[in-house]
Amino acid sequence: MVKCVSILGATGSIGRQSLDIIRHLGLEVGALTAGSNVARMAQQCREFRPKLAVMATREAAEQLREALNDPEISVAWGEEGLLEAAALPEADCVITAVVGMLGLKPTLAAIRQKKRIGLANKETLVCAGELVMAEARAYGAEIIPVDSEHSAIFQCLLGAGEKRAVRRLILTCSGGPFFGMDREALSKVTKADALRHPNWRMGQKITIDCATLMNKGLEVIEAMHLYGVPAEQVDVLIHRQSIVHSMVEFVDGAVMAQLGVADMRLPIQLAMTYPQREECVVERLDLTACAGLTFSRPDMEAFPCLALARQCAARGGNACAAMNGANEEAVRLFLEEKIGFTDIYDRVAQAVAAVPYISAPSLEDILRTDALARRAVSEKP
Ligand code: NAD
Ligand code: MG
Repeated sequence: MVKCVSILGATGSIGRQSLDIIRHLGLEVGALTAGSNVARMAQQCREFRPKLAVMATREAAEQLREALNDPEISVAWGEEGLLEAAALPEADCVITAVVGMLGLKPTLAAIRQKKRIGLANKETLVCAGELVMAEARAYGAEIIPVDSEHSAIFQCLLGAGEKRAVRRLILTCSGGPFFGMDREALSKVTKADALRHPNWRMGQKITIDCATLMNKGLEVIEAMHLYGVPAEQVDVLIHRQSIVHSMVEFVDGAVMAQLGVADMRLPIQLAMTYPQREECVVERLDLTACAGLTFSRPDMEAFPCLALARQCAARGGNACAAMNGANEEAVRLFLEEKIGFTDIYDRVAQAVAAVPYISAPSLEDILRTDALARRAVSEKP
């Protein structure tokens, strides 16, 4: 089990649930970072006493310093602060719970300090999976997935032996709030409709990604990098109940699955306790109450983001970084109610086509690709 944990994005959905587990396991806290929520960050600092607290802006950091008035907690801000938090020597584990490719540089910084990464921030692997995994191998840093599907696969693979024994990974997908709808009906849904996820309470960006099924596309790419398999070996099945969190099919036909209630605190805790398991605060699964588990193929026509993600995964290079950056920007515009729901796919697909292809991108190429893709989405007439 790890001893001291830093959290990037402590005030968000994953961040708060991580602190629940830290409290439950009695672990220490190294650094906490947040965007702009000074009040919640101040409360978290008073309870968990981190060495370092980081806010996104100088103004927010000054407000936090004033609110805390505590010489034992250093306060920093901006990208530099986030990097300092990721590399803080006291912590042996970093939970990456910020949203978007903003998490990339701090994740690399934590890897270079050989920290265990509890990886929630999937956009990092989507943009720069090859670079991140290569750095993790070079520095011997463990990456333990927090995303529920990837944690399920991680658990199904424990003790599985050789990689060639795996026939395919099967990611389950709730289908989101718009399951069963066609493109025509989808063009009329609102932001409020899209934010009503049937099974999970999460941050706004991932909730919209679940509604477009882009989230599952990002997860196919995340799985490729985490488990070193091509996209064709990562299948997706709609499973409305969110009880089976994902599966692995082996060459002999055996299928392993991990089941549980829909509560992120289980994968979060495992990322901190692995290779041990400990008692957890989550509700137990009552199998008699979840009879009638169903599985079906996703509708790739109504939800073309999933097909687009597969195309980008097959293209490789900077294609996934372009798609991710464009998607972050399109989701932002949708949340600001500047574009409609089906415009998200249209804008992302156009941006992916517009950004020049690079077959073996460096970190700088990826950052540039991200900026170009965002611009292609926001500047579209
Ligand atoms: P969220 O929006 O609830 O939280 C995001 C956190 O990042 C907040 O603490 C926010 O203050 C912080 N932040 C925002 N801007 C920042 C900046 N400029 N600098 C530093 N910090 C900043 O998001 P979430 O739902 O917790 O998701 C976090 C990540 O985990 C995402 O990548 C998401 O895809 C992934 N994930 C989330 C869930 C879930 O259940 N919420 C499940 C699987 C994966
Ligand atoms: Mg997931």
